[in-house]
Amino acid sequence: MTHDPNCIFCKIVQGAIPSRKVHEDDEILAFHDINPWGPVHFLLIPKVHIASMAQLDEGHAGLMGRLMTLIPRLALQEGCRPYPQGGFRVVVNTGDDGLQEVQHLHVHVIGGPRPWKKG
Ligand code: AMP
Ligand code: ZN
Repeated sequence: MTHDPNCIFCKIVQGAIPSRKVHEDDEILAFHDINPWGPVHFLLIPKVHIASMAQLDEGHAGLMGRLMTLIPRLALQEGCRPYPQGGFRVVVNTGDDGLQEVQHLHVHVIGGPRPWKKG
């Protein structure tokens, strides 16, 4: 299925729930996390509903390659300091053991001067 009607991030993709957008293209949306761990905290998601990283296969290589390679530019744009003194953390929680709360694949990007609330 392309969208899950019960999925909060699908609702954000469709505009039914508002978000503070960082980037949008045909297949990827990035928006600020509502409960940021640090000065910069945004999420990148595929617009198509994929429950988690556990569902990925080789067919997703192009999509996920494009998603991951957006991160350096968006991180600087949103206020992460340059590498190596700055940088950022990239986190993909997956499944119950991975402490995943929202069941739509998302990549956290967290950065900015420490201390952070978490992480
Ligand atoms: P995870 O534990 O990796 O599933 O993280 C889910 C993340 O989604 C958390 O950091 C939440 O703060 C964030 N989140 C949940 N609802 C929203 C929302 N409506 N807009 C932005 N971020 C959200
Ligand atoms: Zn979804």
